[in-house]
Amino acid sequence: MGKILDGKAFANELGQNLKEKVKKLKEEGITPHFCVINIGDDPASKIYVRTKKRRAEKMGIIQDIYQMPADTKQEEVLALIDKLNADPEINGLMVQLPAPEQIDADALLKRIDPNKDVDALTPANIGQLWMENHFVEPATAEGIIALLKHYQITLAGKRVVVIGRSNIVGKPVAALMLEENATVTVCHLYTKNLAEITRQADIVVSATGQAFLVNADMVKDGAVVVDVGMNHVNGKLVGDVDFDNVKEKASYITPVPGGVGPLTVQFLMEAVVKLTRRQNGRE
Ligand code: NAD
Repeated sequence: MGKILDGKAFANELGQNLKEKVKKLKEEGITPHFCVINIGDDPASKIYVRTKKRRAEKMGIIQDIYQMPADTKQEEVLALIDKLNADPEINGLMVQLPAPEQIDADALLKRIDPNKDVDALTPANIGQLWMENHFVEPATAEGIIALLKHYQITLAGKRVVVIGRSNIVGKPVAALMLEENATVTVCHLYTKNLAEITRQADIVVSATGQAFLVNADMVKDGAVVVDVGMNHVNGKLVGDVDFDNVKEKASYITPVPGGVGPLTVQFLMEAVVKLTRRQNGRE
């Protein structure tokens, strides 16, 4: 039976260190301060925003939430981003996605000052990521790499299959895995014979939003399985992986909840502090 990759425990360990770092900054008169812009009423987004807020409070970081109505116009969000970009008190900002239909999310991301881009989703920071010259990274991808390293799972030379190619998870995971010298295959909705590909993987990372997509037949014995998915099935939070059966074959596996999720939130906080330190000449 596979060992559990305990993201929650690791996030708490990192949290202790970050709290200390924030405390020291505060003693120097610097309090990390970031803003989350949430447009509309997506119930999952509201939960994520609150989860971040709780974590920020625990770390001693100030998080402002700009909750905008569902019919907000693009120009209004752009004006808010411009204001926050220009405000020296604000060290970071992010737009919670998805945004309502009338909003061009890419245009919003482009407008964020890359020096305040806590999600590392501006074109400049995505470019830096692929050039292996990055200062901040998308939090989920960074959390996955850190978790595997924490459990001393070697990445160099490993066959990694990433399922999902979103800008927020799949692509940055692939970029960071490449940087770690893994051999990376990225699969998606149009991939044929997915199981054939995943069965070759030493490490499978699934980020699709499809509950139970990854079953035991799709995973080779001893593989490491990282489940990013967050899906609600009959009122229960589950991942993309059929955990009960896959864990019998895997060497290591992340649970949902308690795997990648807590690390995403923690690494967002780490990014806020990193950017704050850099803006204050501390990095
Ligand atoms: P997305 O919808 O932007 O992308 C999903 C990707 O999965 C697409 O590239 C699509 O081609 C692929 N895909 C969908 N169905 C597939 C299938 N049947 N076979 C192969 N590929 C398939 O989603 P996202 O924003 O990347 O999020 C993915 C999942 O991860 C969601 O459940 C989301 O809630 C979760 N998520 C979790 C965290 C976390 O911290 N744990 C963070 C971000 C996202």
